[in-house]
Amino acid sequence: MREDLLNELDAEYAAQRNRNEQEEAARRERIRKEFPEISRMMAERENLIFGTIHRMLEGNADTEHLEEKMEAANTEIAAALKANGLPEDYLEPVCRCTKCKDTGYTGDLIREPCECLQKAYQEKIREQIGLGKNANETFENFNAGMIPETQVQPGITQRQLTELARKQCEEWANRWPQGSTRDILLSGKSGLGKTFLMRAMAARLIERGVNVLIVSAYTFLQMARKSYFDGECGVRELEEVPVLMLDDLGSEPLMQNITIEQLFQLINERQSRGLSTVISTNLTLKELRERYTERIASRLNDPQNCRIILLEGSDLRKAER
Ligand SMILES: [Zn+2]
Repeated sequence: MREDLLNELDAEYAAQRNRNEQEEAARRERIRKEFPEISRMMAERENLIFGTIHRMLEGNADTEHLEEKMEAANTEIAAALKANGLPEDYLEPVCRCTKCKDTGYTGDLIREPCECLQKAYQEKIREQIGLGKNANETFENFNAGMIPETQVQPGITQRQLTELARKQCEEWANRWPQGSTRDILLSGKSGLGKTFLMRAMAARLIERGVNVLIVSAYTFLQMARKSYFDGECGVRELEEVPVLMLDDLGSEPLMQNITIEQLFQLINERQSRGLSTVISTNLTLKELRERYTERIASRLNDPQNCRIILLEGSDLRKAER
């Protein structure tokens, strides 16, 4: 888990506990003002505890019936709350998550992140990489029915080719890092579903707790320029994240020397670390070679390490209309 996001979450949980306490105080105040009878019962219950403590301090350890008496007092208060149209647990501690009491962690000796914290963490990651809560680009939402059945290769329709691509992408995301190849290159013209498949892979990996980053080639170029001119190390995160998804390579303006050098360095660094890179591009392998030189193209045209998934056909966004 990433430290910066965990710190953010810890602060959010602390704020939540604060709100809980305020809510509890507001409820007690309401009871005190509007329900004097229940107030009296609560005071009696308190006296029960303090009275016992007092007697214990005086060496008179008569705690025998305390538990029974407390239970009777609790039942009486719950019944009175209900009779007044309030929830029976109105005066219990307030919390969103009963498992961790909004601390984010469970366990006494060994602290483990609570389910709610893990879920919140995943949502944060999704948010950060542009996969919002409502992002619908998932394998579950893949709809083959909207893909034309026109033939794109001998004996293969656009729908069949795209379904095959979906299957390969989903398997890769399910099996990562044990997949057949470390990297994936999604190639095809705009509007064939490359970004959808990429984001669906990211969503699946995040579900599995894998750290993923999606950046557009354009954003990457801007980061690379900054690091080239200002010596900023913004690209380090891109070099170190277990799975990096580089979207729409080829759409960014090409700056001689900088783009190619930085792109090569990124790909090279990640390959030498054994980390996975997924690239989507409108370009063919030949066009990639022409634009980014043989040095980069050969890194991607390497069946041992990189699976090339080709999409063909007509623009799905146009077909939709
Ligand atoms: Zn929890």
